[in-house]
Amino acid sequence: MKNIAILGATGSIGLNTLDVISRHPDQFSVFAASAYSNWKGLLQICNDHLPSFAVLGDEASAEKLRRVAPSGVEVLFGKDSLDEIAAHPKTDFVMAAIVGGAGMSSTFCAAKAGKRIMLANKESLILGGDLLMNLAENSGAKIIPVDSEHSAIFQCLEGGRDGLSKIQLTASGGPFLKTSFEKLATATPEQACKHPNWKMGKKISVDSATMMNKGLEVIEASFLFGLNASQIEVIVHPQSIVHSFVYFDDGSVLSQLGLPDMRSAISYALSYPGRKSSGVRQLDLTKEPSLEFKHPDMKKYKCLELAYEALEQGKSAPGTLNAANEVAVEAFLKNKAGFLDIPKIVEKTLREVTCRNLDTLGGVVENDQLSRQVARSFIGSDD
Ligand code: NAD
Ligand code: MG
Repeated sequence: MKNIAILGATGSIGLNTLDVISRHPDQFSVFAASAYSNWKGLLQICNDHLPSFAVLGDEASAEKLRRVAPSGVEVLFGKDSLDEIAAHPKTDFVMAAIVGGAGMSSTFCAAKAGKRIMLANKESLILGGDLLMNLAENSGAKIIPVDSEHSAIFQCLEGGRDGLSKIQLTASGGPFLKTSFEKLATATPEQACKHPNWKMGKKISVDSATMMNKGLEVIEASFLFGLNASQIEVIVHPQSIVHSFVYFDDGSVLSQLGLPDMRSAISYALSYPGRKSSGVRQLDLTKEPSLEFKHPDMKKYKCLELAYEALEQGKSAPGTLNAANEVAVEAFLKNKAGFLDIPKIVEKTLREVTCRNLDTLGGVVENDQLSRQVARSFIGSDD
């Protein structure tokens, strides 16, 4: 029996994880679950799974949950509690499914404590990739990617990486694949969050529409698989059936296919090195539309270009890119910035914030805060 801590349990990845876990009650147990302010969602999870710990973002929400939580569930709140749960001696696996930079600290704690990290929170790697990979190596923590493309590559590399020449991350192109660049100026949050293939949280949905998500994934892949920018390509594949490609020197190309359902990658991360049923329907390619592949339009998807630039620059640039993007996406979701302002805010922030070495977690946090502050100053500015 493995004890699982699900950080971000009420979100899209969190709920899919609970779904997979429920199918194997003799193998996995929900040891802890967290949410930010959604205490009612967390109450439901407590009733269904009886975790030992439930963690909320603030004291007021925790108090509301405490009054109605089933006995045996200890209700905690705050960032420090997330860190403690991630490193708790009884935690075996941590599902890192908090959205954004807020997920970094607990991921680092899990890495320090040598846990299996099922990594959905790509932002942890974008912010402090080298530090996180080093921590994991020193403690023996195993990072298993949950992002579908990275899970695909991880699975393709299980047979070894001898002769690997490059990888190609597939991208759906998001809801605006067929929308003209001019029309993007008036795109609304509702339109941007309507992803054609995947049902996800709002932030990653907007990132998919701008293709910043793919940009962040290029950086994520670089840290996870030790590749440089020139070895990581992006290819648009609107059907989201092929989850990425690995190219080898002998002309072979390996890939992993499946229906666009995150439970496959989650189940793999839980079951590795084995496999367990996930509830995902079998793929029947004779019943799917033809699979298409094309190069991304870098002018339309400026965020993707900026992400490559940040990766090539290295040091603190990916962290700055991520911070500026989080600020810009939040402003867009609140109708305080237009869709095309997102790349503008990110670009201006990257130019403004000095790129520097990040040797400590403190340095990562400082750069994140500074970059957010600079990005905020560009909201509403027209130049
Ligand atoms: P979501 O918005 O649906 O859920 C986010 C979860 O994090 C919720 O439980 C929420 O309560 C919690 N949370 C939000 N802000 C928090 C904060 N400040 N402190 C603590 N907890 C907080 O997001 P999601 O779509 O499940 O994505 C989660 C992560 O997984 C993201 O990093 C995303 O990039 C990644 N990811 C998601 C998908 C997907 O299909 N949804 C695919 C690949 C990767
Ligand atoms: Mg992905």
